Amino acid sequence: MRYAIIGAGLAGLTCAHDIRQHDRDATIEVFEAAERIGGKLFTVPFESGPTDLGAEAFLNRRTDAIDFFNSLGLADHLVYPSGLRSLVYSGGHLQTLPAGGAMGIPGDSRDFEELLGDEACARIDAESEAEPIDWEVGQDARVGELVRQRYGNEVVDRVVSALLGGVYSCTADDLGMRATIPQLAEALDELAAAGEKVTLSGAIQKMNSRRNTITKSSAPSPIFATFRGGYAELYDTLAESSGAQIFVDAFISGVNRNSDGTFSLKGAGEGNYDRLVLATPAPTTAVLLKDIAPEAAQKLQAIELASSAVVGMKFDSDEGLPQNSGVLVAADEPEMHAKAFTLSSRKWPHLAERGGAVVRASFGRFGDEALVRAEEDELVDMALDDLQKTTGFDGRAAGLSEIYVQRWFGGIPRFDKNHFDVVAAVREELSTLDGVEVTGAWAAGVGVPNVIADARDAAQRITHAD
Ligand SMILES: Cc1cc2nc3c(=O)[nH]c(=O)nc-3n(C[C@H](O)[C@H](O)[C@H](O)COP(=O)(O)OP(=O)(O)OC[C@H]3O[C@@H](n4cnc5c(N)ncnc54)[C@H](O)[C@@H]3O)c2cc1C
Repeated sequence: MRYAIIGAGLAGLTCAHDIRQHDRDATIEVFEAAERIGGKLFTVPFESGPTDLGAEAFLNRRTDAIDFFNSLGLADHLVYPSGLRSLVYSGGHLQTLPAGGAMGIPGDSRDFEELLGDEACARIDAESEAEPIDWEVGQDARVGELVRQRYGNEVVDRVVSALLGGVYSCTADDLGMRATIPQLAEALDELAAAGEKVTLSGAIQKMNSRRNTITKSSAPSPIFATFRGGYAELYDTLAESSGAQIFVDAFISGVNRNSDGTFSLKGAGEGNYDRLVLATPAPTTAVLLKDIAPEAAQKLQAIELASSAVVGMKFDSDEGLPQNSGVLVAADEPEMHAKAFTLSSRKWPHLAERGGAVVRASFGRFGDEALVRAEEDELVDMALDDLQKTTGFDGRAAGLSEIYVQRWFGGIPRFDKNHFDVVAAVREELSTLDGVEVTGAWAAGVGVPNVIADARDAAQRITHAD
């Protein structure tokens, strides 16, 4: 059986690896448009050591992902964060990010007084007395819209957008709840299904009490983990174990279906393929499906992308850098360019071992690419200025020994309201098209464990299709 996989990001490489597990004799060819594999996983070989400038962690509580890494022989390569807290820069100064709640949405105003002020706190505490939310089980809402309606603007602009922006490169106003905070949507469903009064604070409190029960009954484990040598350890291992032929600089511009049911590719690849996996971002997948599944392609066009830029910096000294994992910048903070700093060598003990400091500055949100397109020198200057402004750490004086600017145009799908309804509709359209699978962050959800799980399912289906 001959397989073509388009895209050598995490989804494409995981799929290639699993196809090999299911079909030992398969001929697997992977076509990657860029000059390297890994996609949004990208470990840059800094002189001081490998440094991730795409994804830099994964959810350690996803046992399916951990089992997968173990099966790849990578169990000993996993490392864990220091557990230092993150800060939020709001109102011109640094404040501790309150714990609890869901993506910064509180169940009550405790610990939020300094960040939000008395008026906003009073609104949060009175929310349970307001008219109930008109919520139907299974419905979706934009996070920003709902939280603004119930709690006011402060909590969205100072906390929720900062937290969501760090993960999704979008403000809360551009994101759907079911795709980004699914536990909150489920808690709202539960209140509605039980005929109880549906409020935001009630749903958050429901989530918190469930989380406390789970935490009490299970041994504490770090929430996040990563690979000691960066994500390259994962994508290089997957590429090798797949036994696939991987073609880089191989841009695929279209796909044909032949009369015998096989596929041929435009742009690279030779001859016909029995099976096809599209592991590309949603807009590209739409283009590639255009001729073989026009309805699916049309539905996929609803999914847009958000861009960002990451400036990775290594300093000779870490003196004066706060003892925190990171700094999020409130979305309403004037005269700031960076949206977040990961104080990587504070967050990850294995990076602290290198001496000095490693910091990642992140820029850009959905709908605003100006910063992502800024000149490289300008981005570095903004990163250093904003880092000093927020933390007091003078990066120039600390000795900036290594810099890498990575732009992620269309780096992350925008997970809008009803996102997974679109995904389900696309999958439904494709269910009648034999021998084709689609996978990737847009179909799976943004996190590395989600992408792996979806790609593994795709490999299972495509090797058992007939
Ligand atoms: C800055 C950033 C930070 C992140 N941080 C985290 C994190 O800390 N933790 C976490 O869990 N997740 C994180 N993520 C998300 C995670 O990295 C992604 O969800 C995941 O890597 C996506 O994998 P993928 O294979 O679906 O897509 P991609 O990595 O985008 O792979 C798709 C591949 O297809 C190729 N391609 C596109 N078009 C064509 C074509 N026409 N022909 C051939 N090839 C093509 C692309 O070049 C690319 O290599 C982050 C993402 C970004 C951008």
